[in-house]
Amino acid sequence: MTVRGYAPGRINLIGEHTDYNDGYALPIALGVGATARFDPSISDSIAVSSREEGAAAAIPLDTSPGTGAVRGWPGYVAGCVWALREHGVRVPGGAMTIASDVPVGAGLSSSAAIECAVLEALVAASGSEAPDRTTLARIAQRAENEYVGAPTGLLDQMSSLYGEQDTALLLDFRSLAVDRVPMNLGTAVLLAIDSRTPHQHAGGEYGARRRSCEAAAAELGLSSLRDASDGAWTRTDDAVTARRARHVITENARVLAAADALASGDFTRFGELMVESHHSMRDDFEITVPAIDFIADEACRFGAYGARMTGGGFGGTVVVLAPASAAERIVSELPEAVHSAGHPRPSIAAVRPGGGAFAEKT
Ligand code: ADP
Ligand code: MG
Repeated sequence: MTVRGYAPGRINLIGEHTDYNDGYALPIALGVGATARFDPSISDSIAVSSREEGAAAAIPLDTSPGTGAVRGWPGYVAGCVWALREHGVRVPGGAMTIASDVPVGAGLSSSAAIECAVLEALVAASGSEAPDRTTLARIAQRAENEYVGAPTGLLDQMSSLYGEQDTALLLDFRSLAVDRVPMNLGTAVLLAIDSRTPHQHAGGEYGARRRSCEAAAAELGLSSLRDASDGAWTRTDDAVTARRARHVITENARVLAAADALASGDFTRFGELMVESHHSMRDDFEITVPAIDFIADEACRFGAYGARMTGGGFGGTVVVLAPASAAERIVSELPEAVHSAGHPRPSIAAVRPGGGAFAEKT
């Protein structure tokens, strides 16, 4: 028996750094993802290889975080094995081959695509009853947080597991409710512009932003910034903490407004909210970089409804919603404009909401 797990990457339309603040986000799953082919056998380890990264040493089924943990990319697989076993699933040994069309470090969540594809394959091969989507997302997050050591929220895994064609997902990270918002692009175009300035997630900045948010919530006497009212940031003592809090508080409000705008097909309003979100990430949360700011501004100059950085920040991808005519100009003229300004030449792909993760036996 061979099992195949598939899981897509994602692009977040709006709602950045809100997931670990119990807030809201509005992502879509992409039409591209990762595949994990798994041939179970009687073995106490999993021999894993990646089309992109090559072969790795076999992962012992009894692997655990800490000293002796598997390092590098196989750590994502090992983390899934560990977290799944912790959940009580009997993971079989065998051989696994991974292949992914999600670019690494572009802010499209290649890591969650790998985790969710691996989990889908392992669960299907285990014969156990599949955990529900949200539980699976938590298992993947545990693998990434506790095994790999990247302190990321649940956005990426929820998007990959719940994705649906032509649907954006309004995620509430407190209740973990998933509201499906129909996304009919009509003649409008959604573009993912890869700045080719890869981010460094596990790097200290992400953790530093998380700590600032926790400090702000504590100072305001709240369990999370989700509960902060409009303007609450003025009650924090430190100017930097106040700006970090203002981003999260205003971003949550923008996500809800954007979901309404999308539901009523109001792309002009949706685009305005994207631009406000970008400015908030640039000025208050300070997670953009010059190449990204330039791309977002240029896209709007070419007539986009809106543009904003997507993903954790410090590089990665700009998501753009544009009328068809503006999209054509962006595709043909923007890369050269960005290059002439001294930044790497970006690559552009049209994207639309795609289906979520699944497993099949072959
Ligand atoms: P992203 O924003 O793309 O998720 P991360 O830093 O969170 O960036 O995750 C990228 C990491 O995921 C890579 O460094 C690698 O360890 C792992 N990864 C992603 N795609 C693959 C792949 N095709 N094969 C092996 N490992 C992969
Ligand atoms: Mg990631």
